Amino acid sequence: MQGIYNLNKEDKNNAFLTTVKSAHYGDGKLNGIPIAVKDNISTKGIETTCGSKILEGYIPPYDAHVITLIKKEGAAIVGKTNMDEFGMGTTTENSAYGPTANPADPTCVPGGSSGGSAAAVASGMVPMALGTDTGGSIRCPASFCGIVGLKPTYGRVSRYGLIAYSNSLEQIGPMAKTVGEISALMEIISVHDPRDTTSYNKPYIHTPSADISGTKVGVPLEYFGEGVNRGVSEKVRDAISTLEGLGAEIIECSIPSMEYALAAYYVICTSEASSNLSRFDGVRYGPSVNSKHQWHDEFRTYRGEKFGTEVQRRIMLGTFALSAGYYGKYYAKAQAARENMRRDFRRIFETVDIIAGPTMPDVAYKLGEKSDPLSMYLTDILTVPANLAGLPAISVPCGKTDGMPVGLQIMGRHFEDERVVDVAFAYEQEVV
Ligand code: GLN
Repeated sequence: MQGIYNLNKEDKNNAFLTTVKSAHYGDGKLNGIPIAVKDNISTKGIETTCGSKILEGYIPPYDAHVITLIKKEGAAIVGKTNMDEFGMGTTTENSAYGPTANPADPTCVPGGSSGGSAAAVASGMVPMALGTDTGGSIRCPASFCGIVGLKPTYGRVSRYGLIAYSNSLEQIGPMAKTVGEISALMEIISVHDPRDTTSYNKPYIHTPSADISGTKVGVPLEYFGEGVNRGVSEKVRDAISTLEGLGAEIIECSIPSMEYALAAYYVICTSEASSNLSRFDGVRYGPSVNSKHQWHDEFRTYRGEKFGTEVQRRIMLGTFALSAGYYGKYYAKAQAARENMRRDFRRIFETVDIIAGPTMPDVAYKLGEKSDPLSMYLTDILTVPANLAGLPAISVPCGKTDGMPVGLQIMGRHFEDERVVDVAFAYEQEVV
């Protein structure tokens, strides 16, 4: 299993040993607890590759804010986890270092892009891990591997030290086997950070409560439409009935802007990626270019060799969407669709407290089963709305179909991560 891939490499600086040793055994809330960290989160002295050859050998000189926070509480970072290159993917098969297997069935993908973190938790290597979610990358692998994963409200966790893929969409968040652990890790990582201008000073300080009576649960019909596996729908409907049994009120609703969600997401994320990834030029990070040729020839060859196919595809798409003459047709329209989606959610949240549905339209695919990029993009349909609108969303296991785990997704209003956690907690307590 290649969930934690850096552990298999020669650790020249003994960097992991140092973090494990320096995990102080004082009164920190995470004393000695092993934590795995997705490999796009900067860890001082520990190689951070984003699953890409372009960052092979890159050792960050500083820690991401979340890393400083977990170290302060005594956590032991035991490994960096495998991921789709720069977070671009839904299966972890787009890693330059090879795929990760799903502990629930090693012939299947673990989901992505935080597949290594999910597999490390699901297989019991670590009790907790950090992942990142730009369009579903925490919730999808949580759903496929049968664990819990939370994408916090945009702005609740500092992105300082997260190597950006699409900065207006992504958040760092906790992954674990239980909602209680998710909540505990969330308390630690949600401290305000002035170094990230989108970081809000609204720390999550919360003890989960299983009392959800009177909570209004919106169930969007788009989340049970065509393309959603019947077994998945059934399991999620059962879970929603369980919430009703706990005193929640179920209200059918509709999110018409879902029709444009994927198109908007893929224009915005590729546009941001084309800009964010321009810094990888062979001069400042990773393996260096060493040649006497014309610079632009070198730059082209270097990036052509070091970036994987999916990353190159997205840089080209994004550059095209932002280019003169097309900006208004693509990027501006995508932003308008994003605003429509925000408006839909604002309207729905006037009558409901949370929204529930499946996390993914299907269970984990076989390794190698999905090779066409478009059909892969389509599978993100149920997760990208929360990123476009910046809402908190959790995936909690709700049984199995065809022998594979299914995830119940719960989305909430901005900065109501606590309520999202409570509903997941109430469900978990009832069914465990
Ligand atoms: N699957 C989505 C994508 O490929 C989401 C990835 C993510 O959240 N990092 O962009």
